[in-house]
Amino acid sequence: MRGAILYGPYDVRVEQRPDPTIIEPTDAIIRLSATCVCGSDLWPYRGLEPVTGPTPMGHEYVGIVEEVGRAVTKIKSGQFVVGSFWASDNTCPICQAGYQSRCVHAVPIGSIGTQAQFARIPLADGTLVATPDLPPDDLIPSLLAASDVLGTGWFASDAAAVGPGKTVGVVGDGAVGLLGVLAAKQLGAERIIAMSRHEARQRLARAFGATDIVTERGDAGVARIKDLTDGLGAHSVIEAVGTQESMLQAIRSTRPGGHVGFVGVSHGVELPGEELFFAEVHLFGGPAPVRRFLPKLIDLIYSQQINPGKVFDLELPLEQAAEGYRAMDERRAIKALLRL
Ligand SMILES: [Zn+2]
Repeated sequence: MRGAILYGPYDVRVEQRPDPTIIEPTDAIIRLSATCVCGSDLWPYRGLEPVTGPTPMGHEYVGIVEEVGRAVTKIKSGQFVVGSFWASDNTCPICQAGYQSRCVHAVPIGSIGTQAQFARIPLADGTLVATPDLPPDDLIPSLLAASDVLGTGWFASDAAAVGPGKTVGVVGDGAVGLLGVLAAKQLGAERIIAMSRHEARQRLARAFGATDIVTERGDAGVARIKDLTDGLGAHSVIEAVGTQESMLQAIRSTRPGGHVGFVGVSHGVELPGEELFFAEVHLFGGPAPVRRFLPKLIDLIYSQQINPGKVFDLELPLEQAAEGYRAMDERRAIKALLRL
């Protein structure tokens, strides 16, 4: 099969890779209908996460089940499925509590690499959710978004305790931040302040439900949020970047008693204890347990209540994956969908 491999900084190639086979009896093999490049793929792409040798890339996926192992009972060949970027059994106490991304048997799908024609999905019965039928082509981008960026934005909103009557701030205008806006709208937020300096992303944020746009960053951005909230700060703030600046911006934009939901993969973030003590905000985040939200998200997509697939503003054949990485690295594209 064909698949994307990262050789080193700025060096992605689509090459021949071995076809995956069933290894564990709980595995399924899927034929991908579409895959994509994630903002988090840019960390190793830019050399900010070390890569030791050629690495298969990708952890977002939707597709049709080709084959299942003998211990798989719920998922069947021929079904169209969506899964998250952590394989999980969905039965252990951590999964039962809704934290499937930290399942005691969790397997990172990133170690498998789904920017490819086929993928082996471990713990298929726990990980995969089948759609009601074979979806029409125009729903595939939205279902693919549910696999990670929508599920992550949704978790961020949930972690930030978004709800009716609340004012929500969103730090980060990548796909996750933008879908955090969509989630906040769905969860009933009254006011949603998106922080972005990029016109196309501001437009999409508004289309997803943002009521205000703040273009300032850092302390100036915090001051603008305070201006817009009677000097108090937002009730709920989504952090979708993962840097020291964005994390402090999120904490400082939150009113005392408010909630920060952080889902940007943390890189070099260190929190000052004394400031944190007097901030008196709830901090909660981590790798999103997307599996918890998938049935609801699939339902919202199928009933056309949401269209998260709009975050894909570039579509390329898998063979041109390298261009997808370049476009996202240079911020020419919000998110690149790779067609199979
Ligand atoms: Zn589990």
